[in-house]
Amino acid sequence: MSIVDTLTPVGGPTLLQERRVVTAIPGPRSQELLDRKAAAVPAGVGHTVPIAAVAAGGGVVVDADGNSLIDLGSGIAVTTVGNAHPKVVAAIQAQAAQFVHTCFMVSPYESYVAVAETLNRLTPGDHAKKTALFNSGAEAVENAIKIARKYTKKQAVVAFDHAYHGRTNLTMALTAKAMPYKSGFGPFAGEIYRAPMSYPFRDGLSGAEAAKRAITLIEKQIGADNLAAIIIEPIQGEGGFIVPADGFLPAVVEWCRANDVVFIADEVQTGFARTGAMFASELFDIVPDLVTAAKGIAGGMPLAAVTGRAEIMDASHAGGLGGTYGGNPLACAAALAALDVFENDGLIERAQQVGRILIDRLTALQNIDGRIGDVRGRGAMVAAEFVDPETNEPDAALTAAVARACIAEGVIVLTCGTYGNVIRFLPPLSIPDELLREGLDVVAAALAAR
Ligand SMILES: *Cc1c(COP(=O)(O)O)cnc(C)c1O
Repeated sequence: MSIVDTLTPVGGPTLLQERRVVTAIPGPRSQELLDRKAAAVPAGVGHTVPIAAVAAGGGVVVDADGNSLIDLGSGIAVTTVGNAHPKVVAAIQAQAAQFVHTCFMVSPYESYVAVAETLNRLTPGDHAKKTALFNSGAEAVENAIKIARKYTKKQAVVAFDHAYHGRTNLTMALTAKAMPYKSGFGPFAGEIYRAPMSYPFRDGLSGAEAAKRAITLIEKQIGADNLAAIIIEPIQGEGGFIVPADGFLPAVVEWCRANDVVFIADEVQTGFARTGAMFASELFDIVPDLVTAAKGIAGGMPLAAVTGRAEIMDASHAGGLGGTYGGNPLACAAALAALDVFENDGLIERAQQVGRILIDRLTALQNIDGRIGDVRGRGAMVAAEFVDPETNEPDAALTAAVARACIAEGVIVLTCGTYGNVIRFLPPLSIPDELLREGLDVVAAALAAR
């Protein structure tokens, strides 16, 4: 069965795979919910698409007014297997009927161990590995830093320009962008340092040159003797889908190996077939010491993991790692179902197909419109960067206007980038090709109208 054929939610009606706009967006029922939201939920919890979602699957999200929107965002790279994937839904239902929680640190259960075994097998490298489970990407990143510090007995951590690692205190410190993620929320955790990223479209450096620039800064301003870990997204997510130049990541990994520094790949956004490989590290031929994963891992259930070299993972004392809900049974059941889909239903090939459709269409658009400065990405993680064609300066206003117009026309697109001038495409891999093409037609029309 192809992933595109798995559209029927278990026990639910088949969702018509179509773009259907029957009211203004938001329609009256959605507006009613948004009014309640404004009164009950703080303004800090924003939203991108002004609808009240009532169903989703395949390549669409349906709202309370009967609008059916083409989903090019997957709830931020989460529903890669498709929303309410039948295997995921069945696994959650079966587990819920057995038990919902024991706390793994109180009474262990098999599904947690099975998720750990699967991740130990699927993550890059054939060294001995261990996995600990958590609830969110930020929590996984926090724990990866804890684990690296305990193992190396060092404290400093390097993150990169444009990095995004989460919204908790330590991960805000690791994250680069002030607005909206950090502004006013300090003071931030100490011993975090920032190095320059490889950003080929803007720095014009080769991978080797960019790595030398970063490593020189690290050696001069921090010192390997003080450095516990370097954390990096192999392809940056929120920062603008920045793909580093060839050779950059291998040079950084090599330097880490030579200097007793733990190399952490934050694959929270890039993991699980999204980039046309199970993990993006594979695309760059690197083997991280630790990998953080979340988002796509469990078909929409909250679950996160740190997987890494057994000797590093085992350096933390008993009771030093964990959390009440980490590796919740429902989330683990969902993850085992989703991981089975990733491995056995051809999702890596599907991500590559989706990527070709995205790259071909966006490149064709770029050829006729100089305001698209760069098209980049791997697999089904692709972005277009919008610029002033004369100066290459970021054009955040155009980007926001195009994204708003797409949503009004029933296509969910997300923006990103340090300069807010990137539209990112992260469709669920269950989206039918025609729907993906129609979504891109809407993007093209929205751009042409501006
Ligand atoms: C989303 C994201 C996080 C944070 O994950 P949450 O589940 O939102 O805490 C961390 N790192 C990367 C690369 C991400 O994309």
